[in-house]
Amino acid sequence: MTALLRVESLTVAYGPVTAVRALDLAVGDGEIVALLGANGAGKTSTLRALSGLVRPVGGRIRFAGEDVTGLPPDALVGRGIVHVPEGRQVFGPLSVLENLELGGFTQRKDRAFLRETLAFVFELFPRLKERLHQPAGTLSGGEQQMLAIARGLMSRPRLLLLDEPSMGLAPIVVQDIFRTLRAINGRGTAILIVEQNAKAALALAHRAVVLELGEKVLEGPSEALASDPRVVDAYLAQA
Ligand code: ATP
Repeated sequence: MTALLRVESLTVAYGPVTAVRALDLAVGDGEIVALLGANGAGKTSTLRALSGLVRPVGGRIRFAGEDVTGLPPDALVGRGIVHVPEGRQVFGPLSVLENLELGGFTQRKDRAFLRETLAFVFELFPRLKERLHQPAGTLSGGEQQMLAIARGLMSRPRLLLLDEPSMGLAPIVVQDIFRTLRAINGRGTAILIVEQNAKAALALAHRAVVLELGEKVLEGPSEALASDPRVVDAYLAQA
């Protein structure tokens, strides 16, 4: 498998607190990888390092054959890495369309690109097209999550980093969003997804990595992990 993303010995620390320790991780071109683990395991910190929001204190990040370690977020977006953070941080007073246009800011001058990308996004999220001029803050929680993902797609990323897209949403909405994530992946975007809902994440992902206290403790194809007693006991038993 050619790795689109290859992370070697990534270490992330906040002062004296080491959040991620010597993590090796790869995401193949067109692959979906789930990052699982309890609260505080270092999942969000991993995504923040990959999108340039925190500077790793150690290790190397290679993307599409290039060393991108320590690059700032805008440079990483330009190379095709987009982070959709937890908590669907849409701009509430702005309309759906304005939020989407902000996501496409890197190609803002190219109107044709923007139009094409909007059409692509509306095909994936028809509900957003119906609410184009509605303030984002008045959308339902599920629609705001869809908008957050759609905004991320506006720069046509090669790798989408998703943090807890199911957070606080009803099961039927989660199903809808996960179906759309599969469709996004089907159109060629690789996905690294952090999820508390391990069952849904393992059903979606090709492979999964389990973190505990900042370190990788398990890794493998999703089907194998979904029946691994260590994963079942810790993450699936009560689901
Ligand atoms: P959660 O699901 O709760 O978000 P997580 O697996 O994403 O957990 P992180 O948020 O990456 O874990 O946190 C890993 C560790 O780093 C935790 O011990 C956390 O307290 C610590 N941490 C995270 N952000 C900061 C920060 N800005 N300053 C100091 N410590 C932090």
